Amino acid sequence: SLNQSLSELNGDINVSFEFFPPSTPEMEQILWNSIRRLEPLNPKFVSVTYGANSGVRDRTHGVIERIQQETDLVAAPHLTLVDASDEELLELAKHYWKSGIRDIVALRGDLPAGSPKPTRFAVDLVRLLRSVADFDISVAAYPEVHPDASNAQADLINLKRKIDAGASRAITQFFFDVESYLRFRDRCVAAGIDVEIVPGILPVTNFTQLKRFAGMTNVSLPGWLHKQFDGLENDAGTRQLVGANVAIDMVKVLSREGVKDFHFYTLNRAELTYAICHTLGVRPK
Ligand code: FAD
Repeated sequence: SLNQSLSELNGDINVSFEFFPPSTPEMEQILWNSIRRLEPLNPKFVSVTYGANSGVRDRTHGVIERIQQETDLVAAPHLTLVDASDEELLELAKHYWKSGIRDIVALRGDLPAGSPKPTRFAVDLVRLLRSVADFDISVAAYPEVHPDASNAQADLINLKRKIDAGASRAITQFFFDVESYLRFRDRCVAAGIDVEIVPGILPVTNFTQLKRFAGMTNVSLPGWLHKQFDGLENDAGTRQLVGANVAIDMVKVLSREGVKDFHFYTLNRAELTYAICHTLGVRPK
């Protein structure tokens, strides 16, 4: 029954929040309001994405530094190896360790259009980081398969390599097909991957934008999701309520399936993430 499934949700849950570096003073204000709003929920870590060019990269370092200096949160920078030499990465890793960073989200990064086939992968970054210090490393996983992978099995083996190289959890690409996540988690267990496969939850407020993004990332948008947002193109208020409802339904199913760790793609907004966490029983300390 609904009563039973709601009472089964308990506070025994770990959450982490992802932000991106803001590009304007207005966006910076929104980011910091969101960080302050979410901080009392005591996340395991908060992560900050890393961009494709050096200007954006400096902004990542800036946000990480300020989180470290002004909050009690654990700051986890994302780090990518496209466009960076091993020497640069070693330098940065040492700098991070010295400045107290212990958590890193290690990624290959998206290749600029027209790039040649890559020769270095996220697993190489995991090894490089582990050669510097005992970082707690998160890596990316793709329940619906990464678009560059030759097939699902090769992609799974790639994840296993990243874990064997020393990563301690996988964070998934966002998804809406909960079944595909659950099947993926089973396949990870069968492949001997023994770390948490943390679902990446994307609270949706802008479905039009999501349609564009999902196509690029090989994420399926089920028919029911289209139906939920159908006709709300000019109704941001209702979209917000519907988006919260969609995500809350998802986390309830995941929670009932034993998921204890959730990662939120906040898009620098606090409202939906806060509401979803509340439903999961995550409360201010
Ligand atoms: P990898 O694990 O290296 O895999 C990339 C592809 O190569 C896969 O298809 C894999 O199967 C394949 N592959 C691996 N090894 C080999 C091999 N030896 N031969 C052939 N193929 C191989 N991007 C950013 O730029 N900045 C961010 O901050 C950022 N944060 C992210 C956070 C999360 C949680 C996720 C899920 C993604 C994030 N991304 C970010 C996007 C990510 O950089 C892209 O999805 C990128 O294309 C792949 O990164 P990866 O770490 O999964 O790569």
